[in-house]
Amino acid sequence: MIAKVIVDIPSKSVDFTFDYIIPSRLQSMIQVGMRVVVPFGHRTIQGYVMVITEQPDNSIDISKLKEIKEIQDIKPELTQELIELTDWYNNYFVTKRISMLEVMLPSAIKAKYTKVFSVVDSEAVPLQLQRRFNEEGHYLYKTAQQNDDLATIAPLLKNGAIEEVTILSQKLSKKKQRAVRVIEDFDYDAVLGSLEKSPKQYDLYAYLVDERHHTVMLKHIEEMGFSKSSVDTLTRKAYIEKYDAIVERDPFETRVFEKDEKQLLTSEQQQAFDAILETIKTHEQRTFLLHGVTGSGKTEVYLQTIEEVLNLDRQAMMLVPEIALTPQMVLRFKRRFGDEVAVLHSGLSKGERYDEWQKIRDGKARVSVGARSSVFAPFKDLGMIIIDEEHESSYKQEDYPRYHARDIAQWRSQYHDCPLILGSATPSLESYARADKGVYELLSLPHRVNQQAMPEIEIVDMRAELSAGNRSMFSGQLREAIQQRLDRKEQIVLFLNRRGYASFMLCRDCGHVPQCPNCDISLTYHKSTDQLKCHYCGHRETPPNKCPSCESEHIRQVGTGTQRVEELLQEAFQEARIIRMDVDTTSRKGAHEKLLDDFGAGKGDILLGTQMIAKGLDFPNITLVGVLNADTMLNLPDFRASERTYQLLTQVAGRAGRHEKEGEVIIQTYNPEHYAIKDVQDNDYTAFFQKEMNYRKIGKYPPYFFMINFTIAHKDMKKVMEASKHIHKVLLQHLTEKALVLGPSPAALSRINNEYRFQILVKYKNEPALHEALKYLDDYYHDLYLKDKLSLRIDINPQMMM
Ligand code: ADP
Ligand code: ZN
Ligand code: ZN
Repeated sequence: MIAKVIVDIPSKSVDFTFDYIIPSRLQSMIQVGMRVVVPFGHRTIQGYVMVITEQPDNSIDISKLKEIKEIQDIKPELTQELIELTDWYNNYFVTKRISMLEVMLPSAIKAKYTKVFSVVDSEAVPLQLQRRFNEEGHYLYKTAQQNDDLATIAPLLKNGAIEEVTILSQKLSKKKQRAVRVIEDFDYDAVLGSLEKSPKQYDLYAYLVDERHHTVMLKHIEEMGFSKSSVDTLTRKAYIEKYDAIVERDPFETRVFEKDEKQLLTSEQQQAFDAILETIKTHEQRTFLLHGVTGSGKTEVYLQTIEEVLNLDRQAMMLVPEIALTPQMVLRFKRRFGDEVAVLHSGLSKGERYDEWQKIRDGKARVSVGARSSVFAPFKDLGMIIIDEEHESSYKQEDYPRYHARDIAQWRSQYHDCPLILGSATPSLESYARADKGVYELLSLPHRVNQQAMPEIEIVDMRAELSAGNRSMFSGQLREAIQQRLDRKEQIVLFLNRRGYASFMLCRDCGHVPQCPNCDISLTYHKSTDQLKCHYCGHRETPPNKCPSCESEHIRQVGTGTQRVEELLQEAFQEARIIRMDVDTTSRKGAHEKLLDDFGAGKGDILLGTQMIAKGLDFPNITLVGVLNADTMLNLPDFRASERTYQLLTQVAGRAGRHEKEGEVIIQTYNPEHYAIKDVQDNDYTAFFQKEMNYRKIGKYPPYFFMINFTIAHKDMKKVMEASKHIHKVLLQHLTEKALVLGPSPAALSRINNEYRFQILVKYKNEPALHEALKYLDDYYHDLYLKDKLSLRIDINPQMMM
């Protein structure tokens, strides 16, 4: 037998499969998708089995092939589907296969780990084999391969008598907790008889006898009302013992989930539900755009359709922009589906992530909720894929290998013949345009559940405030509204738009602004550490006391960070309890959730925050949402600036009045006439869509044109210019006259980390030779990068224009 293997070397020159002989001792175990150890040149490296065949291709001389040395997995980590997905992806988006395989797999499997066999049903395992297992009931996978035991083990693994266990090293190892159990060998009834005089001990012992096949944690015993002293007494009498039990790392383990009952759908929800259900039942690929205003019950539609999928014994995958920002969403899923839910996100430790991945792979969890990379979850029979807040830019991975979760989800839904649901209150222009043309099926939820009105939105012209002499960052109207809510004991959310808005240092005498020595950008001032930092290269320095340019002492911080706003706010409303949520207050694990819980429990009057409070917040007592600076994003050099502004403001506004109490939204802006702001006020997405489409048409931007952004970077400006010219020439040779090739020109950020950056932008509709050009350029510059660090970044359908 022959295995075709992709080797773990991130280089274009070896980005295809190599043939290896599968030695007979490994034949019973090997499967497609497993990781193997193979000889490669003079080295021994890891690889992934992509294909298994009986015979090699005719052209290959079998006597020259080398053997696979070792198999690293007991069950394959990659499914056949994921392997096919890499093939498609690498062709289309010019990436290396090995890089794609690496983003798909949870990073824990790249960490140190040991795979072992463990006996489940000892009666089914021959004695001879049982002797190989150690005291903990483990048999090292590596040793089993050396002992040639795989052929004996393979059938036992299949029928469940033996299972695979992965032991991750140190940090990743299983968490342990004190637990209690009865000591066996006693006649339980006799012990119970002797305890009749002390009812507390009797009850505890009886309980532990009943639960003797389960792990009972010490802390749960105490939570249940048994006393610590009963535990200690029984331990002293040697009827029970304490020990360290391994606990499953479940990030939500300490929570008790009250089961959440499903709601009777409104007629709008029902229509959406019926349309989706139909395709689930008929096993049909279709992409739906679920356009529903905030609070229209989209999540309830997701939950109920997922239930249908589970009833058909299939699986469902739900993507959210960022899990840490949507704890309430995860809770709703846990409440509805309990242990069926695997939660995948970057906040988990490697080990936790791997646990969740394995639950999915082994069919123990049939629903996943996760951020971007969970789109690769190893489900085998998907019945539905949902992308919530589909317009969010976090679905695009900006680092190599660049991918958009929407593209992957689309491919997977085709593979599984199942529906893909894109949900949003503010769909991306691309998606809405597709729905408009009938490529996607549009499902609309234009009203909030229970006939709640959308909140009243007011726009405050900050220019007028300024000319009336108000230099503070709170308009008269907002001040009044805040005071009113404080008096009524209602809650307020204040939003500070951080994008395009940072605090920096400025000399009042000469106008000098400290710049990063490595990049063409001003340094940002961080009050918490009293440092100037560069957000692009990480450079940091202590702020100067004197202006480095004119020696004046009048150099100080300008621009207003959240911390400063908090101080100003406190000065203005001394009795208010303020909870601030930004990168600084939420960097610790769990901090985000804690702050939200506090606010939900009424421990704060005002929640002041940045982008991270725009989503998912759903508290009944919020009746006022204030946006301090609506337009800082409008001026960014990005054709999506208006779209992003519209989306963000709509999301923020949606936090108000989601329950019985009416909500009010106040938006402060210097551009009150801009359509991206006015259409938010009217809550009119289609009006915004039409104006924005018009602008895109004139500017030849997506969705009218596709775009590719080439960024060329090197420390030597001359080399950047030469390479740019070469790329420009290659593009012109391959493209038709209908395509536009713009540039080369210096990038918006023309120098990062001492590297000069040039850009070429291609806009096109239909270019048969484009892919050939991309492949050629990618290969060519890949080699140059290895030789000379000259880098070419090819960003297909770019989300960020900087
Ligand atoms: P969205 O995801 O569109 O913002 P949600 O699904 O979160 O909307 O629904 C908003 C609120 O309305 C939630 O508190 C939810 O529990 C409730 N809700 C949703 N559907 C119904 C329904 N059919 N009947 C009653 N309440 C509902
Ligand atoms: Zn100066
Ligand atoms: Zn820098």
